[in-house]
Amino acid sequence: MSEEVATPVAKRPPSLRTPWRWTVLPVLVSVALVSFLVAAPQAQRGNPLIGVAFVALALGVTVYILRSGRVENARLLIFLSTGLLFTAVFEISNTINRGSILLSEQQLATVGAPICPVTIGFVLPPLLLNGQMIFPTTVQAALSITVMWVGFGLLLGRGWCSWMCFFGPMDQFFSRLGPTRRGGRPLVEIPERWHRQLRWLPYGLLLFLILVALVALEPIFCAWLCPLRLAYDPPAVTRTVEWLTVIVIVTLGMGLLVIGPFLTKRRLFCTYGCPLLPLNSIVGLLSPFRVKVDREKCKDCGICARVCPNSAITPATVAKGGTAMECTRCGTCMDRCPQKAIDYRLIGSNARARGAFIALAVAFSLLLLSSYVNGLEIYWQTGTMPPMGGA
Ligand code: SF4
Ligand code: SF4
Ligand code: SF4
Repeated sequence: MSEEVATPVAKRPPSLRTPWRWTVLPVLVSVALVSFLVAAPQAQRGNPLIGVAFVALALGVTVYILRSGRVENARLLIFLSTGLLFTAVFEISNTINRGSILLSEQQLATVGAPICPVTIGFVLPPLLLNGQMIFPTTVQAALSITVMWVGFGLLLGRGWCSWMCFFGPMDQFFSRLGPTRRGGRPLVEIPERWHRQLRWLPYGLLLFLILVALVALEPIFCAWLCPLRLAYDPPAVTRTVEWLTVIVIVTLGMGLLVIGPFLTKRRLFCTYGCPLLPLNSIVGLLSPFRVKVDREKCKDCGICARVCPNSAITPATVAKGGTAMECTRCGTCMDRCPQKAIDYRLIGSNARARGAFIALAVAFSLLLLSSYVNGLEIYWQTGTMPPMGGA
């Protein structure tokens, strides 16, 4: 009897690449959304060539992410560009429309400040309960930005914080820049037991800000804590209280947005300091998308917990097959998991949702980016720019 020789079977490394047949529909959705929205009447002030370029970009980026199985590089490019271009447009628009990047007393008194989504949590309660607007902007501007943000939240969950927010790219950038020690570890590690306590800070902060907003009718986050205030409304530093304000703002800004993220490779402001985080996470519970871990593939190596810039995946959440609700759907853990055990899935089922999530995230983040590019192009051509955020 002849002895059967087993032929060695070449083992393919695990991959999250999407086959072509499942790539076509998401690409069509992303291209159709960008085409439809850049052609909308209110978006037609810009150069049509920019619209065409963004449609091509939507196609290229969606195909790249789905076919390569890698989210991180393309997402970072969009997200960091959003932060950079938003800052440029914000500075130019304010300089043109109100004469200076700085807010004047008159603009503050005449509801001329651009509203930012980070304020929604404490600006809306007094507005809805008592009809009092505590931020120097119009009710219409506050409601418009709320509707836009809620729409993104319902669709993409906390994806807003890794794909679209203009503030988040700052700590994302410095967390990426930070060096690593042997084994890919950051210079400073935040022990998990600390994180378990610290993760509730934004929830406590929001509660406190709401109470102050209702009782004292003051947006004290903007006055005392927002690091961006140094850019558009720096306190005059003549009295002790003003020096104190500057010290608090600079310390928080450097600690949570620059030095802390550099040392820990964590997005510290967006994990422990942002008052919009709780609302993003809670509204995100209604989103149809989740990031889930396939327990059959997972080898409990811990790499995902080490690389998550938001500390949203830990050995405890991996054991339960998912992430904490603060997950920003950034895709870093998926790219780095050696078993490719983590992926976008539909809520309440194990159905793979990578194509659907990527199509929507790419389309909406590129649309926001295209509005900034359009603003810059209008400025280039005419020397004018529409005001931002209700300013
Ligand atoms: S946590 Fe706050 S600042 Fe950070 S990305 Fe989200 S909304 Fe923006
Ligand atoms: S990186 Fe992948 S294999 Fe390792 S613990 Fe996370 S999910 Fe499991
Ligand atoms: S769990 Fe994964 S997808 Fe979610 S924030 Fe962390 S790295 Fe990003």
